[in-house]
Amino acid sequence: MRKIIVQKFGGTSVADTNKIKNVAKTVIREKQNGNDVVVVVSAMGHTTDYLVKMAKDLSPDPSGREMDMLLSTGEGVSIALLAMAIQAQGYDAVSFNAMQIGILTENIHTKARILKIKTDKLKENLKAGKIIVIAGFQGVTDDGEITTLGRGGSDTSAVAIAAALNAERCDIYTDVEGVYTTDPRVVPNASKLDEISYEEMLELAHAGANVLHPRSVETAKLNNVPLRVRSSFKQDNLGTLILGVDKMEINRPVAGVAADLSQARIVVCDVPDKPGVAAKIFSALAKENISVDMIIQSYARKVSNTNDIAFTIDSADLDKTVKTLDTLKHDIDAHGDIQIDDKIAKVSIVGAGMIDRPGVASSMFETLAQQNINIRMISTSEIKISCLVDKSDAHRAVKALHKVFGLESTEIADVKGDLPDV
Ligand code: ADP
Ligand code: ASP
Ligand code: MG
Repeated sequence: MRKIIVQKFGGTSVADTNKIKNVAKTVIREKQNGNDVVVVVSAMGHTTDYLVKMAKDLSPDPSGREMDMLLSTGEGVSIALLAMAIQAQGYDAVSFNAMQIGILTENIHTKARILKIKTDKLKENLKAGKIIVIAGFQGVTDDGEITTLGRGGSDTSAVAIAAALNAERCDIYTDVEGVYTTDPRVVPNASKLDEISYEEMLELAHAGANVLHPRSVETAKLNNVPLRVRSSFKQDNLGTLILGVDKMEINRPVAGVAADLSQARIVVCDVPDKPGVAAKIFSALAKENISVDMIIQSYARKVSNTNDIAFTIDSADLDKTVKTLDTLKHDIDAHGDIQIDDKIAKVSIVGAGMIDRPGVASSMFETLAQQNINIRMISTSEIKISCLVDKSDAHRAVKALHKVFGLESTEIADVKGDLPDV
């Protein structure tokens, strides 16, 4: 049987018609290798950002349904153009959006999860020898509503399609040569990793390394899809292979450093120190689909018998979080303010090798202390340590940690994107 390869091309890779021609060549090369090829594409260049900006110009709080109607249009343009470019080079190609295929998702706007992908149309078209081009990022609910998977979600579309088709491999083509020890726009001499485990990549992606959408890594791990990140522009480099930790020899305590600049910290002050308060706060947020990251509850104050609960969220959910907490304040008998700080960032170090290796956390804290960077919150998992710091300190923290854990390379990475805003 012929092997199926799923290829995904991000926004920079399809930013203009010349780049789309280049993508068509890459796709055709894989077809010429004797494989069946399914391609997933993102919107061209910064299209999704422009669409978001237009929505925000018109409404401070646009409805999720209309945001999905709007944002899903970006990918619609790229699929048609790429299919035309492939056809122009003499190969049979057909484009489909998520509705046409049946990429079924939950009924949650702007961050839906994929529940199921129908494969009949895909198999039929592959059998007919066609190259299939699919719109990433979008989905459809059971009752025909359009959804999107969250920013960066085309990676997840590609991996989910690879899993549904039992593909040989999913190749994520992007604007850097693979997964690096940190964002090469922040540290130009970051090292490219030849391999990284699903577990480490998942933590890095959640910690802000947006080279892969976190759910794409989760889906690849769950379905054992071999995943590769590689450059659209320098194809002699095989990029980074993401695979099971059991297949790797881990001899470094830290695999990578990441910063998440889109976090906000909320402190609910003076809540009664009694059972059920945290449950009420976090269930109310969960009901609104707001994900909470770090959580700290302070010791109870003896006289007032109250404490403070601090947590972080994605800053995109800030307005919704404040609204939810305002409604809840009376119910939980909170006496204090709700403090908000969105000038913060989460800086994390990740590595499967830190298990049972003492001293990694203290090195991180000492390094931040030497840089005179104040730590506002700390959270840990088996293979990750995260510190919340001021946003303006985030890149300095990343650079210092990257150096201290010996992750620098002698080469400078080839980077196409702009430096992320602080
Ligand atoms: P695409 O449009 O192809 O999906 P993204 O912008 O979503 O591309 O992801 C690629 C970008 O991720 C790179 O340009 C790089 O700056 C950034 N990035 C952040 N952390 C890392 C990392 N650890 N390794 C590689 N790239 C990273
Ligand atoms: N176009 C969407 C975004 O910019 C999805 C993606 O590129 O993965 O977030
Ligand atoms: Mg991306």
